[in-house]
Amino acid sequence: MSRVFNFSAGPAMLPEEVLRKAADEMMDYRGCGMSVMEMSHRGKVYDGIIKEAEADFRKLAGVPDNYKVLFLQGGASTQFAMVPMNLMKNRKAAYIITGQWAKKACQEASIYGEAVQVASSADKNFSYIPDCSDLDIPEDADYLYICENNTIYGTEYKKLPNTKGHILVSDVSSNFLSRPIDVEKYGMFFGGVQKNVGPAGVTIAVIREDLIREDVLEGTPTMLKYKTHADADSLYNTPPCYNIYICGLVFKWLLEKGGLGAIAEYNEAKAKIFYDYLDESSLFRGTVRKGDRSPMNAPFVTGDPDLDKEFIREAEAHGFVSLKGHRSVGGMRASMYNAMPVEGVEKLVAFMKEFEASHRA
Ligand SMILES: *Cc1c(COP(=O)(O)O)cnc(C)c1O
Repeated sequence: MSRVFNFSAGPAMLPEEVLRKAADEMMDYRGCGMSVMEMSHRGKVYDGIIKEAEADFRKLAGVPDNYKVLFLQGGASTQFAMVPMNLMKNRKAAYIITGQWAKKACQEASIYGEAVQVASSADKNFSYIPDCSDLDIPEDADYLYICENNTIYGTEYKKLPNTKGHILVSDVSSNFLSRPIDVEKYGMFFGGVQKNVGPAGVTIAVIREDLIREDVLEGTPTMLKYKTHADADSLYNTPPCYNIYICGLVFKWLLEKGGLGAIAEYNEAKAKIFYDYLDESSLFRGTVRKGDRSPMNAPFVTGDPDLDKEFIREAEAHGFVSLKGHRSVGGMRASMYNAMPVEGVEKLVAFMKEFEASHRA
């Protein structure tokens, strides 16, 4: 068996311990004679799996009792519609545009009401987080929406916006469970799990109970109401059973590592190794304003697209895969989620140094 260092932005690496455990339990889950994929979601065994996953998630993230944790489907992208359908009472909301995911969410919301752009970093290709300390948020906006870690551009909010009393809604898909989160600052947050938490197919939404209402926008399908899933403890219909089970194993792995404080330190250490090298390199440079750099996604370039291509090709031949950047930034992007070991980053940097030595003019 030979595993590569996978720097993909998502789906991304999962902890090896989790994959091994899943392999061990594949044919016969703890004596029930079948795999988790084959069992009824209404049975006692599966009920134990989903309940334990939720309890572990609550422990990890410190979710207070007045917030619901929902396991949903349709990816983070479905939340772009569910958020306005469920929360736009006044048919107005404020959006901060820090990249393509925020833009898509804003566009989707404008189908249902007025989506007001209150800040944007589009002027510099989303290479920074705008100042959000004193935004002009319409009084009657139902919520303020942000994308907290911008997967494509490699920026992360270091400080949450001043919401001026509005409900904060955040897409945390690409920094989910990467650092401690102060849940009470949010009305809700959500993330597709395939970046940092588990296999694609699950979206976790954490939402304050008073925001879960019956009187949502007219015509909202049953499956797109938070209330439907909250009332049924995420078992209204068949959930993505196996994927939730894997998420549960990842939660246990994180708890064993010491929780979100410990994983944040680990992630910061990896990011420091990578960014320190970028800052001293005379071949590679980062594309993001330093104070706004994401520890999860690090875009970088040489400035020469042909050399970028050569680097990506050679890196791949050395076992560092999926380093190609998103087409809207170009160059490279190293995604270093929770499951990326520090050795992966150290070895990538060592490889970059060698490449630099042999390609510097
Ligand atoms: C990947 C990503 C999405 C889209 O997620 P899907 O699950 O594919 O819909 C949305 N927001 C952010 C921040 C992402 O990184």
